Amino acid sequence: MACAAAACHENGCCKDEDDEGLVLSTKKRTAEPTIKTNSVLVATASSNTITSSTEDSEHRHGLCVKCKVDAALAGDECNLCFGCFRASLFGKFKVTVTTKDLISPTDNVLIAFSGGPSSRVALQFVHEIQQKAQRNLDASRDKSYPVFGVGAAFIDESAISSISSHEFEQAIQDIRLIVSSLAPPAKELHIAPIGNIFSLDPNDGTERLKELLHTINDVTGKEDFLQHLRMISLQKIASDHGYTKLVLGSCASRIACHVISATVKGQGYSLPADIQYVDARWEVPVVLPLRDCLAQELKMLCHHEGLKTLELLDGPRSGINGLVSSFVTLLQEENPSRQPTIVRTAEKLTPFNFNRLPEIDDSSNHLPFRRRHKKLNFKSDESNTSEFFCQICNSPIKNSDLESLRSILGHSETGANIFGSSCSSCQFQILPKEPSSMEHFYSLLPKSMVARAREGICCNQDRLREQIKDCLLSDDEEGI
Ligand SMILES: [Zn+2]
Ligand SMILES: [Zn+2]
Repeated sequence: MACAAAACHENGCCKDEDDEGLVLSTKKRTAEPTIKTNSVLVATASSNTITSSTEDSEHRHGLCVKCKVDAALAGDECNLCFGCFRASLFGKFKVTVTTKDLISPTDNVLIAFSGGPSSRVALQFVHEIQQKAQRNLDASRDKSYPVFGVGAAFIDESAISSISSHEFEQAIQDIRLIVSSLAPPAKELHIAPIGNIFSLDPNDGTERLKELLHTINDVTGKEDFLQHLRMISLQKIASDHGYTKLVLGSCASRIACHVISATVKGQGYSLPADIQYVDARWEVPVVLPLRDCLAQELKMLCHHEGLKTLELLDGPRSGINGLVSSFVTLLQEENPSRQPTIVRTAEKLTPFNFNRLPEIDDSSNHLPFRRRHKKLNFKSDESNTSEFFCQICNSPIKNSDLESLRSILGHSETGANIFGSSCSSCQFQILPKEPSSMEHFYSLLPKSMVARAREGICCNQDRLREQIKDCLLSDDEEGI
């Protein structure tokens, strides 16, 4: 895996666990564009083959090209020993968290844990950063430096899964064990059935979920809708328990798949919203610290470090998502830099205003910490300012695309009408075509989704009225 080696060289391979060392290397790197890591992956991977003949010969002899002491990992394309590989991967993660200010000392972070390698590594690495912060606190004299809290959430989809209930129970036991066996500080584990967002009564919730999924005929639409429901579940857990950030394990490979499938589904406008390090359009902002890591690297780490993962729960994708996933995997097998290249290309698209963390009152923040961290900053005139969101999937909708909203103005805000401003992808793949089925679909949706839709419509109507106010008749002009 040449990528890890290349990243390692570029990052100065943050083998030193020392924070100061990291800060120094961070300072050096912040002047460069953030996409440098990926672009260098490509550049160095090719230059390695030309210039580093000594490294090649070392690799041929099975030695790690970084430390030149330990044996490189066998059976993989990686030319690093396990120690250097791990240090490089953790370094990449830590640099992302630090330079993008993804986790601050006052945060309470919820990790979306599916049991797969990506979220397993996210849990492990966030835990290690927390442990380090705790050690710093213990060592400090004034004890005023807060340590961020960490929790994990697992969305239980057993009600709609094809996995047997016995196997599912075993998997949940394993998840409990994984989280509880992490060293202190203790981490709370939240296991919530996905039906919880429909009803507090578990049977009722499951029935409504099943009925709702049954109304969606398109397999891709069904899978995507389930993905939205998962996000709503995670947001509910996060806000119910006072978490301030939601960490997802989305890695470069996953994002590369999303880039291609979103393009195929006609979601080009909203695509830049989903692929940034920060997505604050949700009540609890979502962060993606593994965005620059490849699925293969994360799997390799779990394998060599003996981190237990639950592949059972990570079933194959269907429809467009399944096709794209196999396509991107094939591309990557042919050329290890293809996934980062896809992400890097999509990164040229302009992000949205909500792709940065909301400004918080700095007086409550710790200045020494703040000084070391660089906020995600892009000029506001360079970013998309859309504030219209799809009522189903929460994707931003083009400002100019107001036709559907216009048709809602003046109409009832109850019933299925309020879902008129869904993105074209949801209208095509998820929403029923018949008005009568639409009412039924609407009646089954989780309350939080309906509330968000209502809120969005009110906000959209106000903004729309503001935009067209000069063309509106006033009351006394009526009938002229
Ligand atoms: Zn080494
Ligand atoms: Zn949508």
